Amino acid sequence: MDNNQLNQLTLPAGNLSVADEKHAILAAIIATSDDAIISKTLEGIITSWNPGAERMFGYSEAEALGRHISLIIPPDRLSEEALIISSISQGNKVDHFETVRMAKDGHQFPISVTISPITDRSGKVVGASKIARDITIYQKANEKQGMLAAIVDSSDDTILSKTLDGIITSWNKAAEKMFGYTEQEIIGQHISIIIPPERIQEESFLIGEVSKGNKVDHFHTIRVAKDGRRVPISLTVSPIVDELGRIIGASKIARDITEQLNIEEEKARLFEQVKELNDKKDEFIGLASHELKTPLTSISGYLQLLSTIVTDAKAQRFVSKTRLQVKKLSMLVADLLDVSKIEAGKLRFAVERFNIRQVLVDVIELFSHGHNNYRITLETNLAELQVSGDPNRIEQVINNLLTNAIRYSPGTNQIIIYLVKEAGNVKIGIRDFGIGIAEEKLQDVFSRFYRVDDINSNISGLGIGLYLSHEIITRHHGKIWAESEPGVGSTFWFTLPLER
Ligand code: ADP
Repeated sequence: MDNNQLNQLTLPAGNLSVADEKHAILAAIIATSDDAIISKTLEGIITSWNPGAERMFGYSEAEALGRHISLIIPPDRLSEEALIISSISQGNKVDHFETVRMAKDGHQFPISVTISPITDRSGKVVGASKIARDITIYQKANEKQGMLAAIVDSSDDTILSKTLDGIITSWNKAAEKMFGYTEQEIIGQHISIIIPPERIQEESFLIGEVSKGNKVDHFHTIRVAKDGRRVPISLTVSPIVDELGRIIGASKIARDITEQLNIEEEKARLFEQVKELNDKKDEFIGLASHELKTPLTSISGYLQLLSTIVTDAKAQRFVSKTRLQVKKLSMLVADLLDVSKIEAGKLRFAVERFNIRQVLVDVIELFSHGHNNYRITLETNLAELQVSGDPNRIEQVINNLLTNAIRYSPGTNQIIIYLVKEAGNVKIGIRDFGIGIAEEKLQDVFSRFYRVDDINSNISGLGIGLYLSHEIITRHHGKIWAESEPGVGSTFWFTLPLER
């Protein structure tokens, strides 16, 4: 109780002797105390019961007076009373005895109690006074603190704290394990004990940030253990603030990232390996297609010569069949060569202005000859449309799309080609009524060597036509995409900007 509270006590009016006044003050203190103040005889009969006791235990003064003190003692603690009384009988005080007592409603709570003997004028102990304080709050705080301490102790991460001057003030078990210093060894030491000399300047940066109230998150660095081992860690440093809001230190949480780094290194190594293999494969494709091209060119030349020499009709038919197959082979080889050029960044374009409608008409005518079972129609109301680009490469794209439209629509006989002008672009569509492509694979078909294997296991191909087409169109600043429905057909669209 402080002086202010004392000043507020109301004393009985009238003239009082010094002794009476003292008595009255004491009575008032007892009446206003937050603590339970109780007195009892040596037999345990309650002889006084203040308002604090009423509040704490729920019994009014009238209810408690004359009752045995066991009224507020939980049955399993009744034996305590005998011990207390025996101590009191010998004139001893029991100080800050922590136990549990029971309220009228049956709930039990922790108290800290001080019990003193009451003596009569002759000095004989006649009873005991008890001052009891409910310590539920303290116990809860203690439990919470204990729990926090247990968390810190059992953490796999190093948790330590230090003052703003860098003096280590706490050090958990994980820190002992990570750095090899025991708590006794390191508390009071300067944090630089675990900082490698070449990183010592990091400390002033970290403390600088913490002093400004900032947290430093996931700071990757290296610290050094007692045995000189270097430990790569990820560090989180936060300010420690006192009740007044002043920054008084820093807490550090450090995680050993050796394993993480190993995994990253391994990933980087594998990535390098895959890249190397991939480069080798590209190199091989480039070399192989180049080597194939030379003999193919001379085969073509000799076949052409042969076709002018042979007169026999049967032989003439065989030569022309061979020439067709050699042409297909040459186109495959040319595609492969293009792929390796793309990978090496060497695909070049000869840009000029040309009439895209004418290119479509020429390609359609050529295909209609070779595939007279198909009716290939051009739907457009444009007579002429000039674009700039490499006409041979654009023709290559149209060829690829038309070849696919025919190959992937067995048993059908119609292909429609659209040519439209749309918002500064020319848009061309090649529509078939064939097997179609499932929605989730529509984007993949433009990847290198990708083939939708479930639908075209009996249609041969390398999976590079659409990849090349995609490259050519995007390099022309256009777009290419497909719309399709399995069993209904596909339309492959591409755009080219009209003016650039
Ligand atoms: P290829 O036809 O040589 O396999 P492409 O790159 O031209 O290679 O095509 C990739 C894949 O896309 C093909 O394997 C096929 O599964 C699918 N595809 C392409 N065009 C069509 C189409 N018109 N209809 C159905 N599937 C198609």
